[in-house]
Amino acid sequence: MTREQVRWIPPIHDMQNTSQFQQLQEHLGDSMLLTNWLREETDNLRTAFLHGSAPSLSSREAVKHHLFERLEERLHTFDRDRLVKIINATGTVLHTNLGRASMSEAAVQKVHRTARYYSNLEYNITTGERGSRHAVLEDLLQITTGAEAAMVVNNNAAAVYFVLKALASEKEVIVSRGQLVEIGGSFRVSSIMEESGARLVEVGTTNKTRRSDYEKALGEETAMLMKVHTSNFTTIGFTEEVPLHELTDIAEENGDVLVYEDLGSGALYDFKKQGIGNEPTVKEALSTGADLVTFSGDKLLGGPQAGIIAGKKKWIDALKKHQLARVLRVDKMTLAALEETLKAYAKGEADQIPSVRMVLESKEEVKSRAWQLLKQLTFSEWRAQIEEDVSKVGGGTMPEVEIPTAVVSVATKEGQAQKVVQKMRTEAEPSIAARMKNGKIWMDLRTVAEEEIAELASALLYWEAYIDGE
Ligand SMILES: *Cc1c(COP(=O)(O)O)cnc(C)c1O
Repeated sequence: MTREQVRWIPPIHDMQNTSQFQQLQEHLGDSMLLTNWLREETDNLRTAFLHGSAPSLSSREAVKHHLFERLEERLHTFDRDRLVKIINATGTVLHTNLGRASMSEAAVQKVHRTARYYSNLEYNITTGERGSRHAVLEDLLQITTGAEAAMVVNNNAAAVYFVLKALASEKEVIVSRGQLVEIGGSFRVSSIMEESGARLVEVGTTNKTRRSDYEKALGEETAMLMKVHTSNFTTIGFTEEVPLHELTDIAEENGDVLVYEDLGSGALYDFKKQGIGNEPTVKEALSTGADLVTFSGDKLLGGPQAGIIAGKKKWIDALKKHQLARVLRVDKMTLAALEETLKAYAKGEADQIPSVRMVLESKEEVKSRAWQLLKQLTFSEWRAQIEEDVSKVGGGTMPEVEIPTAVVSVATKEGQAQKVVQKMRTEAEPSIAARMKNGKIWMDLRTVAEEEIAELASALLYWEAYIDGE
C-alpha cells in the first residue's frame, strides 16, 4: 500500500506544467519560492507515506489535490501582513508590545518624503561638502532640552551602553543600590555596565543611599556618578536618595568626575504641571547640573525609537568621535520622525503629538468617544455600557500614575467574552487589543482614535452574530 501511494506523488515538472501551478506562480513573478515549497511538500508527503502518518489519500488525483492545497496555504501565509495594524483598546498609551508611541501626522509625512527621495542626511547643502547626520537635529535638541550639545542613537539602551563604554570603560561608576533596575525584562543596568567594561560600584541600600555613601566610594578610579531613573517601580516609605544637585556638588569637589543620569523616559513636556506624575523634564535634569543625560525617543517624548544623549559639549564631542557612534547611528527615517516631533515641542505644540495628547486628555474627552462607540453598538442580546476606570501611561513610565478614563464594557452571553477578545485579536482586521474585566470585554477609549471607532463597533457586532457558530 505504502509503496503504491509513494508512486502517486507526481514528478515536480509534471506539477509545474499544470495550469493550476502556473496560476499560483503568477503571484510570485519569477521567484523560485513556489517550486521550493513544492519540493518540500512532496518530500514531506513521501516521508509521511513511508511512516504511515499521511492523510488518507486514496488516488493519484487526491495526492495532486492535496499538494495544491498545501501550496495555496503556503502562498496565503507568505502573502499575509507580518507587521499589522492594531487598534489599542487597552488604554495603555505607550504599550511597548504594541510599538509604544503612535506618531503625529507631520512626523509620518516627513518620514514618507525622506524615505521616498534623497535628503541631506550627511550633506552640507551650503558648502557642498560631506556633513554629519549627528548635526541634523542638534539645534532642535538644544532648544527642547536646554543642552549645550546632543546626539541621537538607536535607542536609550544603546545610549546608556555608549556613554558607559566611551566614558567609563575600565573605570569605576558609582550607582545607588536603589537604582540598579531592570526594565522590560531585557535591560538591566548592571548587565549593560558589565558589557561596557565599566566597573560597577554599588553604594547604599535598596531603600536608602546617602551623600556620604558616594563620598566614601569615590577614588582615583572613579569616572562617573550615575543616577538611574527607576522608571517602572517606586520605592515608598522609609527611603532616601541623593538628589542630582548633590551628586553634582560631590563631583565638583572631585575634579573630572562626570555626573550622568539615565532618565529613561525623558519628558520634554512638563506633565507634572498638569497634575500627572512627578517626572522631571530633561531641561530640569540638565539645569540641575548633570553633565550628560540619556532618554528614549519613543516613550513620553512620543517620537520614533531612538536614544538621545544630551549635555556638555565636551562629552558629546567625544562621543561623536567615538567608533561606536557609527555602530549605533540612526536611520534617516528616524531623524525625519524625530525632527517633526521635536519641532512640535519647540513651537509649544506638544498637544499635536498623539501620545502626549492621549496622556493629557480628560475623562470627559475620552467619554465623548466612548459615547460614539456605544451608539454604534446596536446589539440584539449583548449589553454595552460606559464605565469608569483608570488608564496607564505604560512603557515603564510613571508606574504610579492612574489617569481617570472612560471605558465601554460589553457583557456577552455566558462564557463568550474571553473567546471574543481572542477573536478580535486574531481575526479582526485591523486586529484589536482589548482586555477582560469583571467577566466583560473592556475597552478603554483613551487609546482609540475617532476614526477607529466604527471598525471596533463592526467587529463587535460581527462577533455577536457569529461567535456561537465558532
Ligand atoms: C526604557 C528605559 C531604558 C531603555 O530605553 P529604550 O529606549 O527602550 O532602549 C533605559 N533606561 C531606563 C531608565 C528606561 O526607563
